[in-house]
Amino acid sequence: MSAILFDRIDEPGLATIDVYTRRGGYSALKKALAMPREAIIEELKVSGLRGRGGAGFSMGTKASFIPGAEIDKYLVCNADESEPGTFKDRELMQKKPHQLIEGMIISAYAVGANRSFIYIRGEYVLQAEMLERAIAEAKQAGHLGENIHGSGFSLDLVLQRGAGAYICGEETGLLDSLEGKRGNPRLKPPFPANEGLYKGPTLINNVETLATVPPIIEMGGAEYAKLGVENSAGTKLVSVSGNVQRPGNYEIELGISSREIIFGLAGGPEAGRSVKLWFPGGSSSPVLTADDLDLPYDFDSLAKAGSMLGSGAIIVVDDSVRVVDVALKLASFYRHESCGKCTPCREGTNWTVNMLERVQSGEATPMDLDIIASVQEQIIGNCLCVLGDAMAMPVGSLVAKFRPEFEAHIEAARERNGLGASQPAVEQPVLTI
Ligand code: SF4
Repeated sequence: MSAILFDRIDEPGLATIDVYTRRGGYSALKKALAMPREAIIEELKVSGLRGRGGAGFSMGTKASFIPGAEIDKYLVCNADESEPGTFKDRELMQKKPHQLIEGMIISAYAVGANRSFIYIRGEYVLQAEMLERAIAEAKQAGHLGENIHGSGFSLDLVLQRGAGAYICGEETGLLDSLEGKRGNPRLKPPFPANEGLYKGPTLINNVETLATVPPIIEMGGAEYAKLGVENSAGTKLVSVSGNVQRPGNYEIELGISSREIIFGLAGGPEAGRSVKLWFPGGSSSPVLTADDLDLPYDFDSLAKAGSMLGSGAIIVVDDSVRVVDVALKLASFYRHESCGKCTPCREGTNWTVNMLERVQSGEATPMDLDIIASVQEQIIGNCLCVLGDAMAMPVGSLVAKFRPEFEAHIEAARERNGLGASQPAVEQPVLTI
């Protein structure tokens, strides 16, 4: 497979407009500006490109939801990349900022947006500086601004730095933050395609998704769709971290075996260690085990296995790590990041952390594991945004798949603390939060 996003990624100077243009950069923009807008959206639909930020929604379909009327419309690039384990957009922005900018100009043209923003997380200082420089170069070259290359299409592009909050990666929280408000998720509907930034129709896409647009325009949607497998076309950047010997970002063709990514590319755990569990799509995805390593890495296969591809961040946990520590770390992160707007998430994340702390210290009994599982079930699907589910799904899966280890941990900790053996679990009424 030849790389599409990471093609020449480490070539010196590729972040500058001179080298990027010498390598064929901005030729897709010129091709796109000669096409009718609807034809670009059709190419995106035909390509089968699904959003690379987590939700996996068809980009072409999403773009087609933007009304055609001549009103103020916006394009927003979500560069918040706050999902733990995800660091692919950082590398793209740092090494190929112009590919993102080119993808944004083409996408804005396709939906008729004249104002665009990159919302980048505050911690990405170097990447923000690289992008600022690249935006200035693109303006200088006439790729941005008024009447781009005589097409009659004009576009402003502004880089906005966030202050660092997980919830600002949620599209409506991001829009609020961009408008200068506290980054709280909004009730949907209305969806951003109809009422987004400053109440105008807004197309929001992730960095990787937008950076994939120029190659699709260059090669054509049908050619791109030949890569990957059914319902998961194309290539994907995966960030592999945790207990692997070669952590990093890799570009893979969707549908290859997960084992090939974790062992073949990332080297697997150190010698003498084995995979205990892995998160296939960032810390918010339900965990899979060593039995799932031969699953094809694509949207449908991971969904069928009860998890999800999410942002493409694979976190590997080997047998040296206690599963209770993984669960507590996760839950603590999401409790800290909960905006507090809705009760199941605000209270549920807090309860989960408190209960897991009891498990860790040995104050809990196996009955508490049932309560933790019950709390997760009541969070899932009952929150205003995905953050509640983002904790409940992985924690629930950890308790379900590793219950014997949780119980053994409780008994060992009780014995250490002189608390005696726990009482056997009894049927409890369902706890409602
Ligand atoms: Fe806020 Fe959590 Fe509710 Fe999302 S799910 S709106 S983060 S309280």
